[in-house]
Amino acid sequence: MDTKAVEKLKGQVRGDVIVPGDARYEEARKVYNAMIDKHPVAVVRCTGVADVIAAVKTAHALGLPISVRGGGHSVPGFGTADGALVVDLGRMRGIRVDPAAKTVRAEGGVTWGDFNHATNAFGLATTGGIISTTGIAGLTLGGGIGYLTRGHGLSLDNLIAADVVLPDGSFVTANPNDHADLFWALRGGGGNFGVVTNFEYRLHAVAEITGGPMFFEVDDAPQVIRAYDRYIADAPRALGAFFAWQIAPPLPFIPENRHGDTFCVLVGCWAGPADQAEKALAPLRNAAPVVAQWVERMPYPVLNGAFDGLVPPGLQHYWKAAFGGPLSDGAIEAHLKHGPKVPAVNSTMHIYPINGAVHDVPADATAFGHRGAKYATVIAGMWPDPTQNEANTRWVRDYYKALAPHSEAGGYINFAAADDQDRVAANFGKSYDRLREVKRKYDPKNAFRFNQNIVA
Ligand SMILES: Cc1cc2nc3c(=O)[nH]c(=O)nc-3n(C[C@H](O)[C@H](O)[C@H](O)COP(=O)(O)OP(=O)(O)OC[C@H]3O[C@@H](n4cnc5c(N)ncnc54)[C@H](O)[C@@H]3O)c2cc1C
Repeated sequence: MDTKAVEKLKGQVRGDVIVPGDARYEEARKVYNAMIDKHPVAVVRCTGVADVIAAVKTAHALGLPISVRGGGHSVPGFGTADGALVVDLGRMRGIRVDPAAKTVRAEGGVTWGDFNHATNAFGLATTGGIISTTGIAGLTLGGGIGYLTRGHGLSLDNLIAADVVLPDGSFVTANPNDHADLFWALRGGGGNFGVVTNFEYRLHAVAEITGGPMFFEVDDAPQVIRAYDRYIADAPRALGAFFAWQIAPPLPFIPENRHGDTFCVLVGCWAGPADQAEKALAPLRNAAPVVAQWVERMPYPVLNGAFDGLVPPGLQHYWKAAFGGPLSDGAIEAHLKHGPKVPAVNSTMHIYPINGAVHDVPADATAFGHRGAKYATVIAGMWPDPTQNEANTRWVRDYYKALAPHSEAGGYINFAAADDQDRVAANFGKSYDRLREVKRKYDPKNAFRFNQNIVA
């Protein structure tokens, strides 16, 4: 951007316009994944919708592609890009809960930690992710899988309306009546269509939960994974749970002599009545002898933040994703071979259930293209030391290669890697053709291309 254009934009926004040469530029171009090293032409730290409109209009006038940053958690680092104008929503953290209507409006830079803090004050929640620092924006636009999915659907199933700044800087509200095609596409199509400045969600009565992790010996993993598979398909919907591999961090509930050992883990979250928690969690707890556990009654936001310490900003990230049906013998074999080799305490593999309320929603009601799946699997390589990149990405790739023949062709777009662009059609699944139509209508020039990109 030339100096004149930068100065003009600075005059139009209340936030900051940070360009190369500015002392803040090195920090401003960074995202959560430390592997990403991109040089945008400008980062606009927006303070409100007016700033977003000004930034998008500037990009439109100059023919610049736009990279949108909500919470910044994108593993491929889509919140920053070479040659792009970055619309950074990190300062747009306003939230207004309507306790009577059980709805909430939240700005595009809100994290799940912000969101849960605000809604928990009213004893309310909606489906979010399992880490509190993730942004509501990217997570919701791609799907939204978390502890409350079985009971209340994906995050996007709870979206009522979205305010969107389109590629030419015009502003629309998308809901079931207005711009219904856009509203459909936003729920699963990711950030392909514009900048969502405000999200409105339905809320549910979830204040306290009983949950946390249970650690089992790797030798018991065959029975643990099968017990999980048997139970979670038809377990009461108030139960959220996932299977994981985890190197034991130095936490007080884990015997000191086991810190650093590898375990398989079941993490449960019972959002039903407190006196039914024991019964609901028992089939998980009884899967095999429990070595260590931290399962308690707690406010829902506490569990949402419980694993944040394992994934601080600045780690290297390389992930792979797969949707799958019931866990076949072949899939279990792949998990048992590769899971115990998890190379770093931050790395993991999670198997999330896609059932319960997710399956209540008709497959074509939103753009989420894999409603028929039983599981969403993520192999999440995360490690602090860049000299270990080769070993860690190899673990993810080898694991994924072994699992792929037992999985659907596509994976969850929010768990996919930058080198998954050749799988975009499969990742969007049944919705892809319709998504392409909506992309042609709202973003024919592909201004919003730093995402799992839909080719118009
Ligand atoms: C540690 C960690 C834990 C995670 N846990 C979960 C989980 O439990 N469940 C789950 O479903 N996913 C999870 N994810 C994946 C997560 O959903 C994606 O990384 C998601 O893209 C993050 O959203 P964000 O706003 O933080 O990311 P960003 O990097 O800001 O954005 C990611 C993408 O969304 C688009 N986007 C962001 N904001 C907007 C906006 N306001 N308008 C339009 N487009 C926008 C961007 O263009 C970009 O393509 C996790 C990721 C990490 C790193």
